Amino acid sequence: MARLIDSGPGCPTPTPLRAANAAEARGLEYTEEVKAATDELYPLVEDFITPMEWPAVAPLVHEINRLKHEKNAVVLAHNYMTPDIFRLVGDFRGDSLQLAREAAETGAGTIVQAGVHFMAETSKILAPEKTVLIPDLEAGCSLAASITGEDVRLIKQRYPDYPVVTYVNTTADVKAECHITCTSSNASQVVEHVAREWDSDTVILVPDQYLAKNVAAQTDIRILTWPGACEVHELFNAEDVAALREAHPGVMILAHPECPPDVLEAADFAGSTSALAGYVGDNHPSKVVLLTECSMSDNVAAENPDVDFVRPCNLCPHMKRITLENIHDSLVEMKHEVTIEEDVRIRAKQAIDAMLALPKLEKPAAFETGLEPLDIELVETA
Ligand code: SF4
Repeated sequence: MARLIDSGPGCPTPTPLRAANAAEARGLEYTEEVKAATDELYPLVEDFITPMEWPAVAPLVHEINRLKHEKNAVVLAHNYMTPDIFRLVGDFRGDSLQLAREAAETGAGTIVQAGVHFMAETSKILAPEKTVLIPDLEAGCSLAASITGEDVRLIKQRYPDYPVVTYVNTTADVKAECHITCTSSNASQVVEHVAREWDSDTVILVPDQYLAKNVAAQTDIRILTWPGACEVHELFNAEDVAALREAHPGVMILAHPECPPDVLEAADFAGSTSALAGYVGDNHPSKVVLLTECSMSDNVAAENPDVDFVRPCNLCPHMKRITLENIHDSLVEMKHEVTIEEDVRIRAKQAIDAMLALPKLEKPAAFETGLEPLDIELVETA
């Protein structure tokens, strides 16, 4: 079994105590029928939920899975969901791009997005005929909130000769104004592609300044960016990396490219959430730390029982708004439905389709580590 070693104050485990109250409030009990139907699920979360706590969680899990069947619905669970959601009710699991592809392909009529609002919008953009629900409308994202469609219109007025790439962590309005989207799995590929297509030595990559700096270090293309940041990943720094190495000799340090460049310089490996999970699965380091959202370690640990995980506990407050309770209520009341104006959806889809038309990478691209951080310019809109 993987050991989870907290560095820092320790992570809250999933939601068993809250789930007990929640199940009771919804008239759900741990009956013999529930027990029989959920016993086989318990081993999937036994590292996170004790046998004493399981009777509180199982009724909600059972009812969600029953409702999904009744309503022809699926739950798309992002890598940052807690293990109770990720492993027990998620029908498809992965990063935002993998989930969006699943949204387009699933035969289900309803999608419950266990993730944040821009992800639900992306599902709706790609699957307009389906009902897309987000369990909590307040599940936002500091990156998506950092820029508007109007900001991008001003950028394009000021820099008409440069293509504008948006990271997928933006609203549909922003995507609708950009030429192409990218993810942290393919950002360098997209930047180099649009530079060739536009015959430009410069590309604008919004809104994540750290992702942009990390991509700039990997390519000869000049990159301009926007002062957005992920409030979870921007908390990491090179001193954290040094402290982790000192406290845990031999640990492999894996970083997400939303971290500041000095973190990637000091890390052993860097890439998207899929790339990080793939690295652990392929290489089975004896001890590893994932410099990304905290629940990711729990979910990757469950797949890799031979690897020990040191967990720096940086939780995303937006992702953590999604719970078993509000997934249940979302299915019961068919709330909150995500809608997008059709002309915005069509233009946003063009930006996503431009990315999806690129040759599919065999696996998510890794970022080279050990590179000296690069200072790059911010765009001006005034
Ligand atoms: S982890 Fe960062 S990028 Fe992801 S949803 Fe939270 S704030 Fe946004």
